[in-house]
Amino acid sequence: MNFSQLGLSQVLLNTLETKGYSSPTPIQQQAIPAILNGQDVMAAAQTGTGKTAAFTLPLIEQLLNTQQPHANQARVLVLAPTRELAIQIAESVETYSAGTRIRSTVVYGGVKINPQMMRLRKGVDILIATPGRLLDLYQQNAIKFTELSALVLDEADRMLDMGFIHDLKKIIRLLPNKRQNLLFSATFSGPIRELAQDLFSSPVEISVATENTAAKTVIQSAYALDKAQKSKLLCHFLIEKKWQQVLVFCRTKHGANRLVALLEKSHISAAAIHGNKSQGARVKALNGFKNGDVNVLVATDIVARGLDISELPYVVNYDLPNTYEDYVHRIGRTGRAGSEGIAVSFVTQADADDLYGIERFIGTLIPRAEEPGFVPQNPVPEKPLDTRPFKPKKKKNKTDSTDKAATDQKQTNSTHSKEGKSRAGQRHTNARKPKRNSSSQGTSKPSSKSKPNNKQRSANKPNQARKPQS
Ligand code: AMP
Repeated sequence: MNFSQLGLSQVLLNTLETKGYSSPTPIQQQAIPAILNGQDVMAAAQTGTGKTAAFTLPLIEQLLNTQQPHANQARVLVLAPTRELAIQIAESVETYSAGTRIRSTVVYGGVKINPQMMRLRKGVDILIATPGRLLDLYQQNAIKFTELSALVLDEADRMLDMGFIHDLKKIIRLLPNKRQNLLFSATFSGPIRELAQDLFSSPVEISVATENTAAKTVIQSAYALDKAQKSKLLCHFLIEKKWQQVLVFCRTKHGANRLVALLEKSHISAAAIHGNKSQGARVKALNGFKNGDVNVLVATDIVARGLDISELPYVVNYDLPNTYEDYVHRIGRTGRAGSEGIAVSFVTQADADDLYGIERFIGTLIPRAEEPGFVPQNPVPEKPLDTRPFKPKKKKNKTDSTDKAATDQKQTNSTHSKEGKSRAGQRHTNARKPKRNSSSQGTSKPSSKSKPNNKQRSANKPNQARKPQS
């Protein structure tokens, strides 16, 4: 199939040709005709499947036949969970609407609101926004929705994970009843279906990948090593093996900063991107990485989902992630839309249970790899694949490791401190890793952020053999 069979205008086809897209991806083949037809669409698709173009292209096509919006109005609203994702969607919209009269803009928290208010004055065809900042703008009368014809919720599962459900509901109540609704999510979990009930009655359902399927074009491997060997092995890959454009994931912001300092000492150009960095610093780091000035981008999970760096060759899990799902999202930054990528994970003996859990989650063993000179003193034992299926977890009101990510977002994504507080109690995570003890496998360990004292430790003992929910 090619794009010309999908009913898109010549101007869009020309742009796609310039971009070098020869044929539509599966999500594009299914979503574009349905959206052009005016139908509501609920699509399960990970990033990397071409989902942004799947909703952007038909929406632009529809807008080509409409009048320009009036002052402070938007015709299409795209909501995204993080500023990085919002910016990337906005870039895609700009690219795909080149040569048309379509005006778009992006708004997100953590930066001054006034320039965003100015940009909304003339009205925009497509507004891309994070939920908190959109509500701020609405309250200041900078945006009206009476001319809105379509709503897109992108990475809806992530928005729910981050506690945006109340903001989403508030926003949906502000929109005209008659509109087209498009929902994109990595999963169709219970909470997503609940949200969908508020949105539409009989959407076209499209599913192109399951949440725990890593892209087939990603070559995965796990290196067992001692903690002290991690930075040396990374430098070995960067210097001896000459790896270029490497995205490295650390579990904490401080860990990311420390690693950047260490790489810079070895004269490797590196930058950190995480929630404590200002918007300017994050954009600078990302742009530097994209244009090749920065060889290594060290990130925490908060930015994992949003990053779209075309043909990114390497992802390194310097630390294994806090949730099994994040493993899939992290390695999804490479091997995108057909190109091949390499994802390596550094695994210490203390991480063994996490590795086994990830393998159970993705339903396959990650091939072990060894680099001469980097044999660990504390090996990671081999373990057969645990084939018991995962069941989605129920919503939890517990403060734990994912709060950090949501706190990142809370600090940067909205100026509503009260809303931020309410969000903190609403998060849930699917497939969270079991707590474990660093000294032995299969036992519980406190999270790195809240080390319990001895008393708490013994109180934790009954949970020591806790397993992932099955
Ligand atoms: P997304 O899933 O929207 O994040 O897109 C992932 C990547 O695939 C982006 O870098 C797009 O530019 C690229 N892409 C989208 N559609 C196509 C296509 N039909 N052919 C080749 N690349 C594409």
